[in-house]
Amino acid sequence: MDIKLLKDELIKYGKLCGEKDFTPGISGNLSARVDDNRILITTSGSANGYLSENDLVLMDFDGKVLDSDKKASSEKMLHVAFYKMRPDIRYIMHVHAPYLSSFAAAHIPLDKPLMAEIVFYFGQIPLAEYGLPSSKDLVEKTSKYFKDYNAVLMANHGFIIGGKELKETYLQLELAEAYAKTVINTRVLGKEVLLNKEQVEEIYSLK
Ligand SMILES: [Zn+2]
Repeated sequence: MDIKLLKDELIKYGKLCGEKDFTPGISGNLSARVDDNRILITTSGSANGYLSENDLVLMDFDGKVLDSDKKASSEKMLHVAFYKMRPDIRYIMHVHAPYLSSFAAAHIPLDKPLMAEIVFYFGQIPLAEYGLPSSKDLVEKTSKYFKDYNAVLMANHGFIIGGKELKETYLQLELAEAYAKTVINTRVLGKEVLLNKEQVEEIYSLK
């Protein structure tokens, strides 16, 4: 993989996340798989919306930074766990997007079949139990969902999503955040009409 191209991609989509208010202030972290034992990841204390090349470091799967004196993101081992478990995943975005984070804070998984598109793309978005940020406990509690899901809510914390291409991963984040907003609106309206089992199966059959 061309490191410069990967950096440019992460900077571009990080900026977009910032513009869309998916990654407020210094929160969250982004990464890209370089090969079987190395990733590019944002540094500790960098803001996803305002990244420059110096905010991205090359790191091995043991968490060791290979090309800089800067520290990698404190959630680095969460990214590594995701890449190790899922060889198909090439990009990871961890953000504290406000609407998804509202569900994470309320401990409400997005697991009801409310919108056809979401059923199709996500099935459901599960909620991982709370773990102290940057702890091994957080890695264990969150990574157990990576086997079956590409996107997970992290209790009292935020959201993490992985994908094969960065554009696709970003667009799914955008979709998930808009969906979280829609679900909150149904609660404001006081009514939500769920898709029934048959309708859900019909949607799955489109895959
Ligand atoms: Zn976080």
